[in-house]
Amino acid sequence: MGGLGLETGLSDGYSGLGLETGPIDGYGGFGWAPAAVRAKTGPSGVRSNVRGASMAVLNITLFGPPRAARDGVLVSFHRGQTLALLAYLAAADRPHSRDALATLLWSEQAEQPAHAALRRILYDLGRTVGKEWLEIEDHHVALPARPGLHVDVRCFCTLQARVSTHGHAPYGLCDDCLPALSEAASLYQDDFLAGFSLKSSTQFDAWLTLTTESLRLELAAALEKLAGALFARRRYDLALPHARRWLALDPLHEPSHRLLMQLYAMNGDQAAVVRQYKQCIRLLATELGIQPSPETIDLYHKLASNQRVLQVEGV
Ligand SMILES: [Zn+2]
Repeated sequence: MGGLGLETGLSDGYSGLGLETGPIDGYGGFGWAPAAVRAKTGPSGVRSNVRGASMAVLNITLFGPPRAARDGVLVSFHRGQTLALLAYLAAADRPHSRDALATLLWSEQAEQPAHAALRRILYDLGRTVGKEWLEIEDHHVALPARPGLHVDVRCFCTLQARVSTHGHAPYGLCDDCLPALSEAASLYQDDFLAGFSLKSSTQFDAWLTLTTESLRLELAAALEKLAGALFARRRYDLALPHARRWLALDPLHEPSHRLLMQLYAMNGDQAAVVRQYKQCIRLLATELGIQPSPETIDLYHKLASNQRVLQVEGV
């Protein structure tokens, strides 16, 4: 699917992340890094390059409470706008006009004060994370991809985009896509910028809401594909955690309940099939005042009578 298809600041074509070939060293031992990089990085998370000089590392985490670490050390943000600007620039590898940034962060202010405030916050951001990471021009600002810069959301989108280029059937993932999508799902530790908001700007909060929902949908699609692909490979034990996580995103989503019921049945756990079905009934009755769909009821009766349903939905 390639990006979110929304004007959220997230887009396709992230490059220079070094996921495949880039010479990215030292992710700073902070939080996470792609598996391929973790394998090459020492226990400290910071590694010298071939000439012996250590490479600077900026690690930005946007899944969960936003934070940044320089060379493995967390940096402190004293202004919410500075952190908001970093998050917005980090979410996508593309330039943003000063006009757009001023409007985004100070949507309630007039043009001149908003531009003056943006200049102050850019200066503050440069002091906080290191101005060498920023591209600040007369008309635009960017946080371009370069060795040493790592942003979890960019990595998440890159992995998703890579999988989407293979054109697999809904639950068919090749041996390259399965670990790539699993890596993407593991990067999503919590919702985008969880717990963060900018009271001074309704525009920023609108962008935040839209981006958060888009990324949740991307995660749900990834978890469904992972659970379905592992089901199709008869790796029911490995599919179960992904299916449970898929359901946790929306406990009223009947297809997730059905997939879990099938996985439990294929795993030979009839008690769990019954538990899952009862949980589905209870949640739908409590939250929506409705019964499960005929499809769910029919599936349950088939599974309860030991008629294994060998096909996962959508295949
Ligand atoms: Zn593939």
